[in-house]
Amino acid sequence: MFILNNVAQPDTLHDAYRILTEKKSNTVLGGCAYLRMGSQIIHTGVDLSKLGLHYIKEADDCIEMGAMATLRDVETNPALFKYFNGVLPKAVGSIIGVQFRNVVTVGASVFSRYGFSDFITALMALDTEVELYHGGRMTLPRFMDRRRAKDILTKVIVHKTNRQAAYQALRNSKSDYPILTVAVSRLEDDWKIAVGARPTRARLAVQAAKRLVTGGTVTSDVIGQAAQIAAEELPFGTNMRGSAEYRRAMCHVLVKRAIAEVAACK
Ligand SMILES: Cc1cc2nc3c(=O)[nH]c(=O)nc-3n(C[C@H](O)[C@H](O)[C@H](O)COP(=O)(O)OP(=O)(O)OC[C@H]3O[C@@H](n4cnc5c(N)ncnc54)[C@H](O)[C@@H]3O)c2cc1C
Repeated sequence: MFILNNVAQPDTLHDAYRILTEKKSNTVLGGCAYLRMGSQIIHTGVDLSKLGLHYIKEADDCIEMGAMATLRDVETNPALFKYFNGVLPKAVGSIIGVQFRNVVTVGASVFSRYGFSDFITALMALDTEVELYHGGRMTLPRFMDRRRAKDILTKVIVHKTNRQAAYQALRNSKSDYPILTVAVSRLEDDWKIAVGARPTRARLAVQAAKRLVTGGTVTSDVIGQAAQIAAEELPFGTNMRGSAEYRRAMCHVLVKRAIAEVAACK
């Protein structure tokens, strides 16, 4: 369990960032579910709950999720059901249970770049940007490759397109961390294939996505070839949940299923 010596509830993002960067151990507080698993001693916890960041808003061209929106908000939001075949509600729906998802936040889930993240894998297959108070706005893949630095993630922006998407994940048991996560999407001939829990963080299988650019029908042979390329181009590792070889084999299976699901969409 972590120790909090002080809690600050700033009224502006400017103050929140100032307090966060005043001392090395000062830390942003999301739902605190993950922080609770550690034994950190925190000088000042920066609670963002007075900053109006608990929202999911649909605009003309995008859907914005504030940092303090919960994964349960993502799971139940009507706009997120309407777009991308509901891939975001589907991806978060297997994380532990409803009470847990009512607590954990969008900002922490994305900022922390957990390798096992169901949510990030699904976001990677869409046209997603993140906004950091200090670092500004950038695409999610760029954020994922960035060096870790103290900042406050204020919102996640998903551009509304006619992308069709599908999500697949493999777990040893229902509420466990995933062994592998896969999200695939298609906007005409622009495919994205994201694979996470390898067990490291989600990455796009760029070569596999290129194989799907046929200018016409995507046959089952092409789907099989793209799934094989994805399994070969991405690195996999071993942890207590599965070996690298197992993950590679399952990558082939899950990517194939997800592409087939998207290819079958009207
Ligand atoms: C037991 C357990 C099992 C889990 N299983 C899964 C799973 O199967 N799949 C899955 O996808 N996820 C899983 N998660 C992760 C979970 O979904 C959340 O992503 C995680 O708990 C972080 O959310 P939180 O709000 O609790 O963050 P906190 O614990 O509050 O914070 C986590 C970190 O994020 C930082 N932070 C918080 N908010 C911000 C912000 N706005 N900007 C910058 N930094 C911030 C904090 O300083 C801290 O370092 C699991 C977590 C736990 C504890």
